Amino acid sequence: MINIAIDGPAGAGKSTISRKAAASLGYIYIDTGALYRTVGLVALRAGVEPSDPQAVAALLTDDLSVELRFVQGEQRMFLNGEDVSAAIRTPEASLAASAVSAVPAVRAYLFDLQKKLAHENNCIMDGRDIGTVVLPDAKVKIFLTASPEARARRRYDELIEKGMDVKFEDVLSDMIRRDYNDSHRAIAPLKPAQDAILLDTSGNTLEQSVALVIETIRANL
Ligand code: C5P
Repeated sequence: MINIAIDGPAGAGKSTISRKAAASLGYIYIDTGALYRTVGLVALRAGVEPSDPQAVAALLTDDLSVELRFVQGEQRMFLNGEDVSAAIRTPEASLAASAVSAVPAVRAYLFDLQKKLAHENNCIMDGRDIGTVVLPDAKVKIFLTASPEARARRRYDELIEKGMDVKFEDVLSDMIRRDYNDSHRAIAPLKPAQDAILLDTSGNTLEQSVALVIETIRANL
């Protein structure tokens, strides 16, 4: 199977770009952030502090079901059979995802699921540690980034479009906090794999970034 790893910080446009590039190449697109978001939601719903490793680990029982399904070609997340694809997109769920993702038991819990998906499908998988930890043998590794302001602006526009009531300054400070958490954690910190190709999307339109990613993948297959 052909596996492509795309990593980078929040808001670099990873998911939209990866989804479009995957459609154009005929691969499936796997958004691993959604897995961490679902576990973050598990903690929020249980009333557990998402940054408490023991308490969060205790929630990962055999009774818990975190499933990634494709519905009409699109990834949806199911938590104990309930479609939580919308519920995992709130700012609260974003921060909870960032916190639980630093818990070793959570990363171990989601590792096998990601490996299995990559083993069975030609895919573009996006996340933070795909090129470094999950798919170290990925055929092409891309590290996609952009300035914090450019990333916060995109995330803000997305949330407003979804009808959410948010302030730009709050989105920017959440973004900076998540960047810090993601790149300073002891386990699987956000950093480019040694053999990753670095792409900066700051001044680009979405179409330009998609074209750049597809070109980069094709040139390195
Ligand atoms: O990409 P997204 O913003 O949906 O990811 C939510 C959170 O999940 C990130 O802030 C990051 O902490 C975590 N994450 C991770 N490893 C991945 C994907 C996401 O730690 N492979």
